[in-house]
Amino acid sequence: MSDREVRSLDDALAFIASYIEAAIPPMRVSVSAAYDHLLAEDIVASVSLPRFDNAAMDGFAIRTDDVRPDGAACLKISQTITAGQEALSTLRAGEAARITTGAPVPPGADRVVVQEAARLDGDQVHLRAPAGGKLHIRKKGEDVAQGTVVMVAGTRIGPGQIALLSSLGLRSVLVVARPKVALLSTGDELVDNPGLLEPGKIFDTNRPMLIRMLQAAGAAVTDLGIARDDPELILERLVAAAADHDLLISTGGASAGFADHLTRIIVRRGYLEFWKLDMRPGKPVGFGDIDDCPILLLPGNPLAAAASFALLGRAIIARLGGKGSNERHAWHLPVTSGIAKPPGRTQVLLGRLRQGLLGRATAVEPLPDQGSARLRYLAVADVMIVLHSEQTEILEGDVVEVLPF
Ligand code: AMP
Ligand code: MG
Repeated sequence: MSDREVRSLDDALAFIASYIEAAIPPMRVSVSAAYDHLLAEDIVASVSLPRFDNAAMDGFAIRTDDVRPDGAACLKISQTITAGQEALSTLRAGEAARITTGAPVPPGADRVVVQEAARLDGDQVHLRAPAGGKLHIRKKGEDVAQGTVVMVAGTRIGPGQIALLSSLGLRSVLVVARPKVALLSTGDELVDNPGLLEPGKIFDTNRPMLIRMLQAAGAAVTDLGIARDDPELILERLVAAAADHDLLISTGGASAGFADHLTRIIVRRGYLEFWKLDMRPGKPVGFGDIDDCPILLLPGNPLAAAASFALLGRAIIARLGGKGSNERHAWHLPVTSGIAKPPGRTQVLLGRLRQGLLGRATAVEPLPDQGSARLRYLAVADVMIVLHSEQTEILEGDVVEVLPF
């Protein structure tokens, strides 16, 4: 392995961006099924909201002209309109319409007087409606004017977005399809938890962690389980999954050890681009394809797998979803203590957020003692701190890039 095979993170990301040219096609789903997806189109309001002038309070719809200068009015109740009914007849001079919240205001009326300011007297109503009081009418289009863009492509659909889309009466929306990702752990030592551990074995840590990281990144995950360090077996599983997935991810077996097969088998069926990344932790990382399905080879050490997934795996998934190349969803926060690092490589450290007012993160604390095989701090960390190749001496208070875990 010559140093020429070592790639910087930026080179690796640029290669991935150029390799994955086309996003997977967006899909049309019902508004309710769009939950948690990213919108793949701008939404233009085809109707106004509210759709018609309607009462904001229970009370009486009146004509302001009928109110005397002292603010009093005595009117004949000519109709009753409840929410869900159609307002058919025009309100004439001297008339009031009894109305409930949400009911259409009849033509001719320009004000709703709340029922607390009204006194019934047979088929008449005595009202107090002083000049300058609230009109209590929600005007057509005051919330959303027909023709305006109410949501842009890229918006994540949560409950609030579903409310607006439903109110506009949309049947379906175009969303970014979830990339189908197949995940395989490799290693003779690995056992699924829960299970029986024989001497020398360990529980698979990466798969349970990466499944959740993938789902959080928007992927639909197929769990390919654990493969023994057997090149034929590994290749067989990957080839089978390549047929109907957008991305394959393996962990373990990616370095140059005698039991590490991944890099050798990939080239039998496809192509391998880089497999040593200038990054700590996470050096043995590869990207290529098997039967034209992209594959990301992640290192076996859990912290290295997490860090390289956060930087490369998320970039691939974003790219499959149509995002630009190197835009990372990151924050920038000051560190609570200084960090020294050699120049020339990317370094990822686990960190814990310091919260200020309203739970807002104000700073990030680098966690100590982070061998890439160590697990304890994974459970304490909220974030990963990314130190770039040109950074060397980071002082307390310096602002660093922070990725969500
Ligand atoms: P490898 O990349 O296969 O050389 O593995 C590097 C280290 O990571 C070894 O100590 C492996 O036992 C460990 N390892 C590999 N895969 C996993 C996994 N899925 N869960 C936990 N540890 C792993
Ligand atoms: Mg291994």
